[in-house]
Amino acid sequence: MKAARFDYLRPATVAAAVAALDEDHGAKPVAGGQSLGPMLNLRLARPSCLVDVAKIPELRRVEERADGVLYGAAITHAEFEDSAVPDPTPGFLARVAHGIAYRAVRNRGTVGGSLVHADPAADWPTTLTALGARVVLVGPDGSRELALEDFLLGAFSTALMEGELVTGVFVPRASTSARFGYRKSCRKVGEFAEAMCAVLADDARGIHRLVVGATEGRHIVVTEAKAVLVDPSLLDVRLVAAGLDAEPATLRLHRKVIRQAIEALESESLPA
Ligand SMILES: Cc1cc2nc3c(=O)[nH]c(=O)nc-3n(C[C@H](O)[C@H](O)[C@H](O)COP(=O)(O)OP(=O)(O)OC[C@H]3O[C@@H](n4cnc5c(N)ncnc54)[C@H](O)[C@@H]3O)c2cc1C
Repeated sequence: MKAARFDYLRPATVAAAVAALDEDHGAKPVAGGQSLGPMLNLRLARPSCLVDVAKIPELRRVEERADGVLYGAAITHAEFEDSAVPDPTPGFLARVAHGIAYRAVRNRGTVGGSLVHADPAADWPTTLTALGARVVLVGPDGSRELALEDFLLGAFSTALMEGELVTGVFVPRASTSARFGYRKSCRKVGEFAEAMCAVLADDARGIHRLVVGATEGRHIVVTEAKAVLVDPSLLDVRLVAAGLDAEPATLRLHRKVIRQAIEALESESLPA
């Protein structure tokens, strides 16, 4: 099937993009088009107008700060993979990006598009939540910032409001001794995950976070995760509370992937 007809705009600034979205509530932003494109073709999305934000300079900017890096929303997966942008972690972001689909998707897909699409099985929502990232939003009423776990409300659901754009994502600087474990289980290489878990153990900053993705709803975020890292069985109560006990086979798979992510903390996360 082909997409239904739509208008196409390519504004030069965030202000012009926000004005276009505010003027026509049937309009939708598009960045890499890697998730929206298939939805248009299947007519699961029928916007009156696509507002192309991929080349807006403010969304392509990267700002390195003492406490982390602010990435423009239109930075592509490939730019993370190639270390074309600074990394406030000891190499975690390039590793995650490398595991997203295949290169053609990574060349166009953007971090902002991935967060707004909010597929619970996508890589950036789970891993950036584990790293304590914050999303920057700009809309008709000004700008605001949200912790990623507050932005992601559930499967394909976010706190993005009418007329708002994600302009950037801030990733806090991890200490050089921080360890990161990330595992996902996919039927085939390049496919979306059936279970995934990201763990950050940053002893120097006293931060231990564990995030379970590829659930049917909201990510499971454990912020005081030190005890769980020592004894993963303590996590069972939280998994059950989050509804992951519905399907025993799924729960088994999640448990296995969580264990592997915790084990990966020791084996892979050596400082750069
Ligand atoms: C074959 C295939 C395999 C894939 N496998 C994986 C995988 O293994 N792991 C993974 O994580 N992802 C995977 N993806 C998804 C891919 O990473 C997408 O690039 C990503 O999810 C969306 O990014 P995008 O820039 O293409 O967004 P788009 O498709 O352009 O947009 C997605 C959504 O975000 C909105 N949007 C985009 N940018 C903004 C913005 N700045 N502000 C507000 N709203 C915005 C759009 O309106 C739309 O609703 C796969 C995609 C394909 C086609």
